[in-house]
Amino acid sequence: MILLAGVLGLLIGSFLNVVIHRVPAGLSLVSPGSACPACAHPVRAYDNVPVVSWLVLRGRCRDCAAPIAVRYPLVELATGLLFVVVAWRFGSTPYAAAGLVVAAAGVALFMIDLDHRRLPFSITGATALGAVIALGIDVVRHGAAPVPTALLAAGAWLAVYGGIWLVTGGRGMGLGDVALAPVLGLVLGWLGWGPALVGLGAGFVVGAVVGVVLIASGSAGAKSRVPHGPFLLTGAAAGMLVGAQLASAYLNLVGLR
Ligand SMILES: [Zn+2]
Repeated sequence: MILLAGVLGLLIGSFLNVVIHRVPAGLSLVSPGSACPACAHPVRAYDNVPVVSWLVLRGRCRDCAAPIAVRYPLVELATGLLFVVVAWRFGSTPYAAAGLVVAAAGVALFMIDLDHRRLPFSITGATALGAVIALGIDVVRHGAAPVPTALLAAGAWLAVYGGIWLVTGGRGMGLGDVALAPVLGLVLGWLGWGPALVGLGAGFVVGAVVGVVLIASGSAGAKSRVPHGPFLLTGAAAGMLVGAQLASAYLNLVGLR
């Protein structure tokens, strides 16, 4: 099952490369088929195998030998790994399906925010729809016990991100972050307050650490605009995968448990 999730992740990662390239440009996801950007020759099916084809072709187009960026196999690999971890952590459950939806969308949003400094509402909307369907199936199968915490967590994430957006006048982050926040809050809150709050806080901690490193290394100035989406998503991944453990370790540490 975990192996299957990994293969599915690689294939979806291959599709996400198309999403990352075409959605911000407003292009169709289905047609035309993939082609080499240098020589426009259509990519053959057997040259479109995730990760493997890039290795076999040694990162070059079969027709014109133009280099194929290493980010394509890396996106596929990252999606495959995330799918493996989600399947391993949550097993064959409806919640795992919600986790896979967020993982796939998260990879696409992460890269699009790096490229274009925006988080397209179309992807956030599709993520919300997919997550709500999966969580709805979870309610049918296992009952509605997680719903109140999940809704409150979604509200808390929206309040924090909406608040920062209002206070900073939109300079600190964009409306794309504000729209994505309650979706992530809902999915993490489904697991409880630990994952929801660890995920929320981890996004800002990772953002602060990376910001300091970028400024110290001279890659960015104090006024550089670093997109927040990748941190928001990295924090959510941490909250979903290890938030429960981190929260209970913290409560033990301060003697509340
Ligand atoms: Zn070519």
